[in-house]
Amino acid sequence: MSRHVFSRGDEGLPVAARGSGAEIFDADARRYLDGSGGAIVVGVGHGVDSVSDAIAEQARRIAYAHPTMFTTDVLEAYADELAPLLPLESPRIYPVSGGSEAVETALKMARAYHLARGEDRYLVIGRHGAYHGNTRGALDVSGRAGLRAPYLPWLGSALHTTAPYEYRCPFPETHPEGCGERHAQVLDELIVEHGAGRVAAFIAEPISGAGLGACVPPADYWSAVERVCRSHGVLLIVDEVMTGFGRTGAWFASEHWGVRPDLMVLAKGAASGYWPLGLAVASDDVHKTIMTGGFTHGFTYSHHGVGAAAGRAVLAVLKQLDLVQAARDRGAQLDAALRAELGNHPAVGDIRGLGLLRGIELVSDRQTRTAFARSDRVVERVVAAGMARGVLLYSSTGCADGRDGDLVLLGPPLIITESETDELASLTAAAIRDVLG
Ligand code: PLP
Repeated sequence: MSRHVFSRGDEGLPVAARGSGAEIFDADARRYLDGSGGAIVVGVGHGVDSVSDAIAEQARRIAYAHPTMFTTDVLEAYADELAPLLPLESPRIYPVSGGSEAVETALKMARAYHLARGEDRYLVIGRHGAYHGNTRGALDVSGRAGLRAPYLPWLGSALHTTAPYEYRCPFPETHPEGCGERHAQVLDELIVEHGAGRVAAFIAEPISGAGLGACVPPADYWSAVERVCRSHGVLLIVDEVMTGFGRTGAWFASEHWGVRPDLMVLAKGAASGYWPLGLAVASDDVHKTIMTGGFTHGFTYSHHGVGAAAGRAVLAVLKQLDLVQAARDRGAQLDAALRAELGNHPAVGDIRGLGLLRGIELVSDRQTRTAFARSDRVVERVVAAGMARGVLLYSSTGCADGRDGDLVLLGPPLIITESETDELASLTAAAIRDVLG
């Protein structure tokens, strides 16, 4: 092995050699069931020839042309095919190289929109426990204390409000009555406190991703926060990096509550891991307004033709195989199987999610919902046990209080078969039992 890779994992990671459907094989031909699509990335599955062929074909035709000098047929076609599926009016799509870049782009779009209207708005409100990426702007609007901690001197221009987290609702005295309205009230007060004329945008995941582990908000949440944003002229940025492209059983999770964002960010499932593709999307109104003042922004690799070819081919597979419906069907199956396997386990506090985005929160005491101490490294051990059993699980920590809190996140490729779905539930349960009895 090279001694020159600045690795993200431990020394001695297995070598990924090949993928097919919901399976990854390492260099020793060992099989892993991809229960998490990596970091909830892979929608159409591994080894899809139509996607790799589309990438190769575009790279052969023309791999790179600078986005200020050229557009490409494939990008124009991709945008036309994607636009009708997005929950924005006549959307304008700005392709970049991943989720964090898409978030940075959307934040700048929000600022540019207000500047074009003659308003010097710059504050952005995110939510506690949220994750929007690791670049500085995206990390600042994120609310995961552990990820922010080393970089705090660089952060601090964003504000944070409450996130719906039904298992640990911030309003226990009235829960479950009117929780969405309570969250909206807190958001409203925060905007008023800092002055509506200074607040540019509110950014949120429609269903929490890595930070809070597939928390589905109460039914009244989205209409209430959308109303508050509109009443103050604050733009609504919906981050569907993890939930987009069918993952939760709808093309985009915003659809579950009829949310109509001003700006939207996408990545992960957009190109299903075949290419580093992110998308910042603006509504027609936001785009038109920005263009009256101009948009000072850009990346060398934005609007990449090969990325558009990957995204377009992935979109075609999602449609051909009706993978949005598959996410609903397999998601319901996975949920039922997890509940059957783990519903009575003393360390399983909550099983939650929608479609094929599912979270399992592990606790040391179900009655009191007490989290394990971080020093126990519970979820890390569960993931390792899963790997030893041949199943890939995604994990997150800090949901309970910013430090403690162990979450197993499942998000397999949407093409996962019925039998693989049952296998995923039983291997996940076995890995949890290996560690917690
Ligand atoms: N937003 C959400 C909701 C995410 O889940 C992630 C990544 O996990 C990001 C943004 C950042 O995306 P990326 O890792 O592609 O920069």
